[in-house]
Amino acid sequence: ARDPVRVLVTGAAGQIGYAIVPMVARGVMLGPDQPVILHMLDIEPAAEALKGVKMELIDAAFPLLKGIIATTDVVEACMGVNIAVMVGGFPRKEGMERKDVMSRNVSIYKAQASALEKHAAPDCKVLVVANPANTNALILKEFAPSIPQKHITCLTRLDHNRALGQISQRLDVEVSDVKNVIIWGNHSSTQYPDVNHATVKTSSGEKPVRELVADDKWLNGDFITTVQQRGAAIIKARKLSSALSAASAACDHIRDWVLGTPKGTWVSMGVYSDGSYGIPPGLIYSFPVTCEKGKWSIVQGLKIDEFSRGKMDATAKELMEEKSLAYSCLN
Ligand code: NDP
Repeated sequence: ARDPVRVLVTGAAGQIGYAIVPMVARGVMLGPDQPVILHMLDIEPAAEALKGVKMELIDAAFPLLKGIIATTDVVEACMGVNIAVMVGGFPRKEGMERKDVMSRNVSIYKAQASALEKHAAPDCKVLVVANPANTNALILKEFAPSIPQKHITCLTRLDHNRALGQISQRLDVEVSDVKNVIIWGNHSSTQYPDVNHATVKTSSGEKPVRELVADDKWLNGDFITTVQQRGAAIIKARKLSSALSAASAACDHIRDWVLGTPKGTWVSMGVYSDGSYGIPPGLIYSFPVTCEKGKWSIVQGLKIDEFSRGKMDATAKELMEEKSLAYSCLN
């Protein structure tokens, strides 16, 4: 039998936490043959709720779940973990300044970086979900210099999946037949959902999405804003945030990273920029990536038109501003 993989979920008593832990325990994240040990971290005010989540995990009798650690101690939580899904963060409350939210999260991610660096398994892969996800991931990277920078990523897979969903709805095709959309940039409303390289599998072969939709006005307009603002639309409808789809996307992100992307298919991940596509190095930016043997690489050589260029640069600019705000909170 395989050794269990230790998966950390921070903010585990929260909404996304509650949605993701059963997915991990069922093998949605790492496959149906991979036993797991769940490490759940939350803060003191959520300690009782976290106990309740642990009780439910026991009651669900998941065959793959070989152990449960539920704690408010960050060192205990990080000990030996192979995968870290960082969902805990300080939410933006009404009336709070951007700088206040940033400041809270910078100190959380700085502290958790140190704990991961000291106590996680050396090969630990990190996925940051909590907002501002790209910048939280950047802070985590800065304060965990011994974790390889390629092991620190943030979630834009939900935006990617939302783009696939919108195309599939518009064309009335199966979502599994749509592929190779791209989310560029920040996991925020400046993200750029790009369909210029996306295709749909049809009975007469793969066809470009642009050709099938044949409505550039929609593709360059409502499609983009719908994907960008989907989170807000769900909050409006549900009065709660999109925890189910966020949890599912986080599982997709880790699964593809660990087990590989299908041949000819890429996905979007927030990763440390190496300067590809003229994006400034030193930002965590969402790129199209393929994954193989536990490593991601940025898809190279895609043609970028002027419309895309402007949108890719605008979201990079926002990330640079977030970065300097984050750094100003450190001082
Ligand atoms: P959620 O579980 O709904 O969200 C957690 C984080 O994920 C938030 O930062 C949220 O951003 C972000 N997020 C990213 N993508 C999405 C998406 N598509 N939909 C929803 N959220 C998304 O928040 P809860 O408040 O329910 O839970 C947070 C948990 O974190 C709590 O259990 C709390 O105790 C814990 N916590 C931990 C802290 C720490 O580690 N020091 C500090 C504060 C809280 P956004 O805010 O933009 O919605």
